Amino acid sequence: MIQRIGLIGDPVAHSRSPAMQNAALMHLGIPARYELWPTPADALPARITMLRASECLGANVTLPHKTAVLPLLDDLEPATVRIGAVNTIYKRADGALVGTNTDAPALLTSLREDGQFEPGGQRVVLLGASGAARAAAYALVTAHVERLVVVNRTLERAEKLLADMMLAQLDPLPHLIVLALDDPDVPAYIADSTLLINATAVGWQAEEMPLPTLVVARGMLVYDMVYRPTRLLREAAVQGARTLDGLGMLLHQGALAFTYWTGQPAPLTVMRSALLSA
Ligand code: NAP
Repeated sequence: MIQRIGLIGDPVAHSRSPAMQNAALMHLGIPARYELWPTPADALPARITMLRASECLGANVTLPHKTAVLPLLDDLEPATVRIGAVNTIYKRADGALVGTNTDAPALLTSLREDGQFEPGGQRVVLLGASGAARAAAYALVTAHVERLVVVNRTLERAEKLLADMMLAQLDPLPHLIVLALDDPDVPAYIADSTLLINATAVGWQAEEMPLPTLVVARGMLVYDMVYRPTRLLREAAVQGARTLDGLGMLLHQGALAFTYWTGQPAPLTVMRSALLSA
């Protein structure tokens, strides 16, 4: 029997995950395939029911279902509850569907391995307050950054993120600050940071910028979760920053999910080259 894994979202056609995951499955000779499962909101409960069939190993979840899927699952990993967003569903030995979030550890792995950047003790500005930013904030707080400034167009969403991080009772909590995108203090905080992360949905179009003004410190790392070169990265490089796009994070979130579904270490080299040629 060919087993099935899928990407649940709407839309999903743009995704590079099938190329990356199918290359890994084929490389290891695992009789399974990774499919696109386009799922409008009203079909989400039925999709999760389908996942309970024995031929299904699990799924990735993308927009707009990363939060809506939480109450439909049997169990959630504790970090996922705090983040409030699921990007991977796997099956436990008893058949229970478990929600997890591989974006958070993937960001840390990418910072450390691709960026040679250890987040502990660093001063960070994070742009965005939605699912990806919440995963990043959780990851950075658990990695013991010294200061985390969350900047978002909608201040209330950043305040909610901050409140949820404080509820996590992580010890020690870093110095946490939230600012609106147009707050005049934003440039000074960025210039005084060692890491700037873009976790907004802005940057996929060539000339889009997530910030009205960019002033970076020479040598700081600017990380864009958008997994291609962006205007933010181009302009930061001109000012002397080190820059990294989100391809490494995409690879590592997929690699962790692969291991949840198959129980096997992910073939990273195969997955990376499949991603690059997708
Ligand atoms: P999302 O829910 O669509 O993100 C919304 C965020 O973007 C919110 O903070 C929103 O601010 C902000 N935003 C949207 N339009 C804006 C605008 N015109 N100006 C300023 N801010 C704007 O998406 P997500 O799932 O959190 O993902 C965020 C980004 O990370 C996406 O580009 C996604 O592709 C990327 N991502 C990459 C990886 C990876 O592996 N590399 C993994 C996950 C996500 P408001 O709150 O004010 O609306």
